Amino acid sequence: MAISAKAVPQAIPRIAPREDLNVFRISQIQFDIAAEHLKLDQGLRQVLRTPKRIMEVSVPTKMDNGQVKVFQGYRVQHNVARGPAKGGIRYHPNVTLDEVKALAMWMTWKCAAVNIPFGGGKGGVICDPKRMSKSELERMTRRFCSEILPIIGPERDIPAPDVYTDSQTMAWFMDTYSMTVGHTALASVTGKPVPLGGSEGRNEATARGCLFVTEEACKTKKMNLRGATVAIQGFGNAGSIAARLFTEKKAKVVAISDSRGGVHNSRGIDPYKAARYKERSGTVVGMPGTSRISNDDLLTMKCDILIPAALETVITLNNADLVKAKIVAEAANGPTTPHADEALAKRGIMVLPDILANSGGVTTSYFEWVQDLQSFFWSEAEVNAKLEAVMKRSFQEVYETSRKNHVHMRTAAYMLAVGRVADATVVRGLFP
Ligand code: NAD
Repeated sequence: MAISAKAVPQAIPRIAPREDLNVFRISQIQFDIAAEHLKLDQGLRQVLRTPKRIMEVSVPTKMDNGQVKVFQGYRVQHNVARGPAKGGIRYHPNVTLDEVKALAMWMTWKCAAVNIPFGGGKGGVICDPKRMSKSELERMTRRFCSEILPIIGPERDIPAPDVYTDSQTMAWFMDTYSMTVGHTALASVTGKPVPLGGSEGRNEATARGCLFVTEEACKTKKMNLRGATVAIQGFGNAGSIAARLFTEKKAKVVAISDSRGGVHNSRGIDPYKAARYKERSGTVVGMPGTSRISNDDLLTMKCDILIPAALETVITLNNADLVKAKIVAEAANGPTTPHADEALAKRGIMVLPDILANSGGVTTSYFEWVQDLQSFFWSEAEVNAKLEAVMKRSFQEVYETSRKNHVHMRTAAYMLAVGRVADATVVRGLFP
């Protein structure tokens, strides 16, 4: 196999006529489009479009009733050409290996898009965390960590939180890793609690990064963020904090949702009240002063900025033509399919792609890792200022690439990211 960046003429890969919602295939289509624009060598494409390493593990866990349940877990390292693998751990009943492979590949491009020295990884356990007690989650987490321990570590692969995992999950991970290797390894995971080597600002970082790039996008569209209406799907770490930060900038959050449905108020929803209501009731549905809407309605409602902040493939051929927002800021990973991308671009809707719009999380995870390795910690203001610089620079680079090559923002972000990983791979050469 030759590894060179030589041009190989070939038509832009055609997207299948019927929309394919398998997220791994979607991630490969997105890669193929960029690879074609970059005219990458075919051998190099094969290297970059497949995961480097996949680990599948059984996670036997004692449940509170004394019985043992065996969960299935995965850790995928997509690419480590530019540095150790980096990526979250997801707990969800619908986790599949293909989903984890897609999420790992997106992490590779995300780290490269914002130019931080990590590769891409991701993990997942098929489980229903909402139906598990805290002690069951702790035992499952510790066993999962122990099972994947041979391939993780501060220089190899650094997990972080994702859907239905949080700083507590990361504390258990870090403790299990540390007890096994025999010393406290702060840099083994990120997204930890601040007293345990976590970074100031990490909890808000995904949403804050999303806000920074949306502010830049508004400038290019000559839109005012102040007074702009915002609809947010998903009210977890990314979505609920985005609601708060956009409100602080005087944007008006008119709709929010979670797995049980959504709520709407054209005069605006107070994100603090919504968070307190969700804390008490387990959902935003039924919040006083709001009317109920479905998650589907939320995506197509009249608003200036749409923030998908839940799960993948929610904007598809079925609803892309109905989206009314001027900007779609992807706080979630993979919310828009390649077909929907084309449909939105045709209508002049600017999509801030996941690998840019939610990269604030991994960027601040990088800051956390650096602080842990140095045992020297920064203030929140310092972290946020560094994050702002990375996000604004990255937006400008993607926007310029988009204009220069007449491609939409996702393809532009991929061209930058894939180009960087390709360069690193070519210059390293093929081992042995
Ligand atoms: P979370 O577990 O904190 O929140 C997930 C939210 O999505 C919850 O409010 C849940 O009710 C809602 N949800 C679940 N299923 C839904 C459905 N079918 N319809 C509508 N809402 C639904 O997770 P998170 O960390 O906020 O992650 C959300 C998205 O952001 C994911 O795509 C994740 O990969 C991405 N992301 C998160 C981070 C991070 O730092 N947390 C970083 C980058 C990307």
